[in-house]
Amino acid sequence: MSKRVADVIFPNLPKTYEEYEAQYPPRNCAATRFAPSPTGFMHIGGLYTALINCLFAKRNGGVFFLRIEDTDQKRQVENGVTEIIHTLNDFSIRFDEGPAGETGDYGSYGPYRQSLRREIYQAYAKYLLEKDLAYPCFCTEEDGVQLRQRQEEENALQKGYYGKWALCRNLTEEQVLEKLAQGQSYVLRLRSSGVDGKFRVFHDELRGDISMPENVMDAVIIKQDGLPTYHFAHVVDDHLMHTSDVIRADEWIASLPLHVQLFETLGFPVPRYTHLSPIAKLEPKEDGESFSRRKLSKRKDPEARVHYYDEIGYPVAAVLDYLLTISSADYEPWREENPDAPITGFPLDVKRTGIAGSLFDFNKLNSIARGRVAHMSCGEVYEAVCAWAAKYDGKLSSYIAAEPDRFRRSIPVWHDNRLDVAKWSDLMQMYPYLYDAGCRIDEIPMPEKFAGHAQRIPGILRDYLEGFDPSDDSAAWFDKLRAIAAKYNYAVKMGQYKKHPEDFNGSIADVSSFVRFAITGCTNTPDLHQIIQVIGGEEAGRRVEKFCERF
Ligand code: GLU
Repeated sequence: MSKRVADVIFPNLPKTYEEYEAQYPPRNCAATRFAPSPTGFMHIGGLYTALINCLFAKRNGGVFFLRIEDTDQKRQVENGVTEIIHTLNDFSIRFDEGPAGETGDYGSYGPYRQSLRREIYQAYAKYLLEKDLAYPCFCTEEDGVQLRQRQEEENALQKGYYGKWALCRNLTEEQVLEKLAQGQSYVLRLRSSGVDGKFRVFHDELRGDISMPENVMDAVIIKQDGLPTYHFAHVVDDHLMHTSDVIRADEWIASLPLHVQLFETLGFPVPRYTHLSPIAKLEPKEDGESFSRRKLSKRKDPEARVHYYDEIGYPVAAVLDYLLTISSADYEPWREENPDAPITGFPLDVKRTGIAGSLFDFNKLNSIARGRVAHMSCGEVYEAVCAWAAKYDGKLSSYIAAEPDRFRRSIPVWHDNRLDVAKWSDLMQMYPYLYDAGCRIDEIPMPEKFAGHAQRIPGILRDYLEGFDPSDDSAAWFDKLRAIAAKYNYAVKMGQYKKHPEDFNGSIADVSSFVRFAITGCTNTPDLHQIIQVIGGEEAGRRVEKFCERF
């Protein structure tokens, strides 16, 4: 177009692009960014992208910043920015620059919210208009429909707004000025320099060289509302914020030819690109035998939402360890050697994150989380569970509030030398006999294997109650159990029993399981003596009495 058109479209911009160039001088270090749109709950893939960007910057002595991509005003949610900031904080992903909350910023390359950068994009769009590298397009929705129809009819190899199909590409300056004077609405489009059918090699740090056709589309750069499209905003922002490495989801690979073209048309150096593979899931196909691979979906998979992990109480460190374990083959051995190191110490090599994409695997997550929980001290567990229960589990929270010390004493029961608990919501599920005051142990169906012992169980349990002394230590407590076993002809030594089972009514293991079941409603629990110490002798006695009533 021309300077005249550019001046009519953007008569009063506060600064020129040259002034912006001077305002944001190059950085002397690597810079990466996380650039989410505040459209609701964060996806686990977003958290993963943020984590990789953060580690990459730390690894290279660079800066990691947060940029909010909020140019699609229709998709915004209230408090979306705060939500993103909180989530990153919760997962200890610290950004060096970015928004400070719903308003305000840290860092000198801001504003870090695209909606506040409107005039910056416009200054660069004006530059393109002046150089005839962009033009206003007045096509209506109806024109778009007709264009698609004609392309169908004429079997156009590519559909879209380009070349001879681009109706407004060749309007004269007079025509443009007239339409502007009439107040017709318009978008601004790039005048693509791409040659139809010509291929070009694009480099991706993870995937190597990728050959793709040049971009021929006259892509929209500024929408009718004056805000930029993602494509244009990405290029202007990553240039002015001096992003050295754009590390983002692989859904953007297809846009690479357009993005590189925009960088080059604007005369900007092109950053290095890394397109991360998504976290996927296998879904059974209709034939019931084979599987298809698909991205985790916020709609279908609860585990796609970052909040899910907080809600069910996975420790933050476990989720981060998990994400890096499934994506980077080097992580697990590194973590084994450095169990206490902060995650930022991991020598991340993005080239070693798989191209195929990792598969989400709950078993792996749980096993990593169990290891992480076991690695925490009882004090850390106490703090973490208190915070979690206060947010998500009223029952557990009141249990803790009623007797915090009892809760503190209960932690070693399932924590020390065990790998049972992966997440805090396991506590109520696995140990209702410890934490759920309303738990009806007397209603839990009796194990079938008790049937052959029915006439002896009440006697055994009454003897147990009679000898019960809450101050007994573990050895004294078990000695008493042995004595009762002997009295009822249950083998005290397992070896004896295995050799001559016919000589006995059962073994000490059976006797313990009667007591265990009476007190917990389970046949398999952590150390029973420890459990009794936590619930208290009186309560344990009451449960045994109740159990006896069932015979
Ligand atoms: N706002 C884009 C998204 O959320 C960012 C892509 C990028 O990192 O450049 O997908």
